[in-house]
Amino acid sequence: MQTNCGGFALAVKTKEPIKTVETSSKIETVVQLLESEFGIPNWRRKDPLDELILTILSQNTNDRNRDNGYVRLRNQFPTWAEVLDAPISAIEEAIRPAGLSNQKSTSIKGALAWVKERFGSLSLQGLRSLENDEVIQLLTSQKGVGVKTAAVLLAFSLDRDLCPVDTHVHRIALRLGWVKEGTSAEKTFTAIRSSMPEGKAASFHLNLLKFGRTICTARSPKCEVCPLWDDCQYLEKKPQPFKVS
Ligand code: SF4
Repeated sequence: MQTNCGGFALAVKTKEPIKTVETSSKIETVVQLLESEFGIPNWRRKDPLDELILTILSQNTNDRNRDNGYVRLRNQFPTWAEVLDAPISAIEEAIRPAGLSNQKSTSIKGALAWVKERFGSLSLQGLRSLENDEVIQLLTSQKGVGVKTAAVLLAFSLDRDLCPVDTHVHRIALRLGWVKEGTSAEKTFTAIRSSMPEGKAASFHLNLLKFGRTICTARSPKCEVCPLWDDCQYLEKKPQPFKVS
């Protein structure tokens, strides 16, 4: 099976996935192991509209390029109203470091126009009164806004207990056998959503990101030092000293 991780195809082979009834306890174990490894992460809550624009900018790029594009955009157009009034070409130029600037400038302008029309002002604070699924449905009706973006906004701007599934979380979920081979990122989000220990989903997402960037990387995962080795179903995992697959 092939899945796309960080812009290239990654072969993912796993043993039979664990039964759904076991998923909660498996995930709880991993939450605890990663907290022992990395601690409990903190984050600064962002305004939901800022988060929406940031997550549009983050598609198919790294954090540094995303932030570069965002800072340039905000420096050039300090308010979202100015971005909305700006020509697409000027937005495109400002966000160029974030990549796909042609597509992202259109998505940003479209999202701002929609927010203004839907909520009567350039603010997404109105989402606070909606249920998670209503927010997901509403946001994903917009071009360039997927389930991951909606989940990030819910978790990190609206304090909802959700674990967004990005490329790292998806890859780890497949390798650990939380979902079957071939399960898409969106379906993985739905499949593991109810299995999260209460109050841990957002911080777990951040620890999974750290784990995916430093140990369970897309290419050449560092299985030899992996704290989740015993829980891993990945057929190509490398051995650890004194352990047998
Ligand atoms: S053992 Fe290797 S493939 Fe499995 S979770 Fe750890 S780093 Fe990833």
